[in-house]
Amino acid sequence: MKYIGAHVSISGGVENAPINAHNMGAKAFALFTKNQKRWFSKPLTDENIFLFRKNCEKYGYEAGQILPHDSYLINLGNPDAEKLKKSRDSFFDEIHRCELLGLDRLNFHPGSHLKQIPEDVCLNTIAESLNLIFNKTKDVIAVLENTAGQGSNMGFRFEHLQFIINKVDDKSRIGVCLDTCHTFAAGYDIKTEKGYKRTFREFDEIVGFQYLKGMHINDSKNELGSRVDRHHNLGKGFLGEEVFKRIINDSRFDNIPLILETPDASRYAYEIEWLYSLLD
Ligand SMILES: [Zn+2]
Ligand SMILES: [Zn+2]
Repeated sequence: MKYIGAHVSISGGVENAPINAHNMGAKAFALFTKNQKRWFSKPLTDENIFLFRKNCEKYGYEAGQILPHDSYLINLGNPDAEKLKKSRDSFFDEIHRCELLGLDRLNFHPGSHLKQIPEDVCLNTIAESLNLIFNKTKDVIAVLENTAGQGSNMGFRFEHLQFIINKVDDKSRIGVCLDTCHTFAAGYDIKTEKGYKRTFREFDEIVGFQYLKGMHINDSKNELGSRVDRHHNLGKGFLGEEVFKRIINDSRFDNIPLILETPDASRYAYEIEWLYSLLD
């Protein structure tokens, strides 16, 4: 089964996310469980939690079709001790919110070295952050997103993801989300058929498809290897249409949330329908 959807608004409360997803014909969705521009937000109320679960059930969304995303402020590899602590506390809170909502995974960007520490020190710090947080929480999977490698962001090579997974004690708590725009901008040529085959063979060898817990489906405003993170509407950017047809018909991407983060939310319903129309 292909679970295609988009990142939806939680305006008015998290309980509106499944309604918004249903209204655009989505079989999956992503959401922030709080204001993504703040370190901490008000706790979820019993009513938020009850209604979110009720609406998910009503519209047929199970945990495996939902990919919550953490706050953009969090950097689990931050070189500054105080900011690192704040990031860890905030990520712990995000995991806890997912637990309350009955969600089983949380998507996050690995972290940035801010040009203050070597790459491997940053990756080690990220793994250490995860181990600390896993010891304090029960069962949500932390889903590392591959990045475009913009600025000092880590996670733009499959080897970075593998490095972190290797250092995480509880492998059942760690997963990966591949963003098609980021993959391409990081220098993996998934646009051509040959490049597509090679990229995902490499991904399987280095990371392993068993860790893949979600995908972000975006076209790219910038060229292969640009290291620039700018999403475009499907078929309008440097990726073109073919790659999306390949993904939709590739069983390795079955039964995980496939989430649009394209620029214009008013096109989500159309893009979801278009993706489903590509199924052979
Ligand atoms: Zn993404
Ligand atoms: Zn992006």
